[in-house]
Amino acid sequence: MFLKATADTREHADSYYAASANWQTNYPELEGDIEVDVVIVGGGFSGVATAVELGERGYKVALLEANRIGWGASGRNGGQIIGGYGQNPSAFKANIGTEGVEVVENMGVECVEIIKQRIEKYNIDCGLKWGYCEVGLKRRHLKDYRKWAEEEPQIKLLDRDELKHYVNSEIYLGGYYREDWGHIQPLNLCIGEAKVAESMGAVIFEQTRVTGVTYGKNPAVQTEKGSVRANHVILCGNAYMGNLVPYLDARVLPATSCVIGTEPLTEEQQRQTMVRDVAVCDSRTALDYYRLSADKRLLFGGLSNYSGLDPTNATEIMRAKMLRVFPSLKEVKIDFSWSGRMGISVRRMPQIGRIKDSNVLYISGYSGHGVAPTHMTGRILAEAVDGDTHRFDIMNKMFHLPWPGGKLLRRPAMAIGMMYYKTLDRF
Ligand SMILES: Cc1cc2nc3c(=O)[nH]c(=O)nc-3n(C[C@H](O)[C@H](O)[C@H](O)COP(=O)(O)OP(=O)(O)OC[C@H]3O[C@@H](n4cnc5c(N)ncnc54)[C@H](O)[C@@H]3O)c2cc1C
Repeated sequence: MFLKATADTREHADSYYAASANWQTNYPELEGDIEVDVVIVGGGFSGVATAVELGERGYKVALLEANRIGWGASGRNGGQIIGGYGQNPSAFKANIGTEGVEVVENMGVECVEIIKQRIEKYNIDCGLKWGYCEVGLKRRHLKDYRKWAEEEPQIKLLDRDELKHYVNSEIYLGGYYREDWGHIQPLNLCIGEAKVAESMGAVIFEQTRVTGVTYGKNPAVQTEKGSVRANHVILCGNAYMGNLVPYLDARVLPATSCVIGTEPLTEEQQRQTMVRDVAVCDSRTALDYYRLSADKRLLFGGLSNYSGLDPTNATEIMRAKMLRVFPSLKEVKIDFSWSGRMGISVRRMPQIGRIKDSNVLYISGYSGHGVAPTHMTGRILAEAVDGDTHRFDIMNKMFHLPWPGGKLLRRPAMAIGMMYYKTLDRF
């Protein structure tokens, strides 16, 4: 893999999602000084979901986005609605106790419900489809599925032949299907939610980068051409926030993941590959994830790296990965190729907390998940602003550790760690 520095522009990446967006957002840039109840930094799912939850509770919100709504990971991801988190909540029992583990487990279900209800309630057009398959390449993956199926009745185990009625590939040993997870066009959900927040009184600014934060009980943020004072600041910049808040920079490692989009598949090509219109992930640490778009393109993602750089030859590498799963797509054209950055936290759990005992709250580090969990964290942050900190406090107790190695060594340290897991994936 060859790497290059990312040349991000302030407009959307050249993704299938930007090309199929319901509309192009065009909110103004902030010019001048304003005051609101809550100012949110970052217009991805974390930011817009929090804005909707706060709007529903009657708060006056300003949402500041450096680029465009959904410009970051939220408008570039695999679109897979997956419950739970990157880590099993029971790993945190020592920090949050048995009751805390139960609360977090329930939130892993609630996050999917929030998306479902929000799309229904506000009639958001984002191509929602239900159905998810996890597919196994190793016997130990199948063993895990059998164990999970004992605990979760939603899981329907599939042997090798049964799986082919969902995902028609020779490389998997088996998998499982569940109806309660699925997929969406993420950019359309994100801009749709921004519109909902706006309808409830939120003021939204694009092309408005926050350049400074003032902490304390009456915090504020500064931008290139103005400022916002508020009772609360909520930081939702995740893997794209750079060094704005050094405390968070030390705790969020940006990882790049790549996606390609084929030309629309014919019905015959769909029968040879994606028999059912489900979201699919395999069970490796460095996984492939894929699904069909509304117009039946195969959107195929994977190839994570922790260098902070983009692969120059991502399209060829991703195409080779896709052909390993579906060799019959050899002649199919690749129409789109893009990448995005997700925030990884040391403990693979979303980090929700408060900075310096101030009214500056943050969320970051969904560690590869996020489409559904961002909707849960939006609710938890709104509850906290509204004076109910029960769930916020549980999440905050999970210790948000800085990445070892500091700025210089954390990326190579993580790359070595991932190499170890990729080697394990082979056996
Ligand atoms: C390629 C890819 C595939 C993925 N696939 C899936 C998937 O299928 N399912 C799943 O659950 N998760 C997936 N994820 C993860 C998921 O997309 C993220 O966890 C989630 O979108 C994070 O949302 P966010 O709002 O916290 O961050 P982002 O969506 O990255 O939003 C942060 C926003 O903050 C803005 N910002 C940053 N700094 C500032 C500042 N100083 N001032 C103003 N604005 C600022 C940025 O411009 C950006 O728009 C994927 C991620 C990637 C990159």
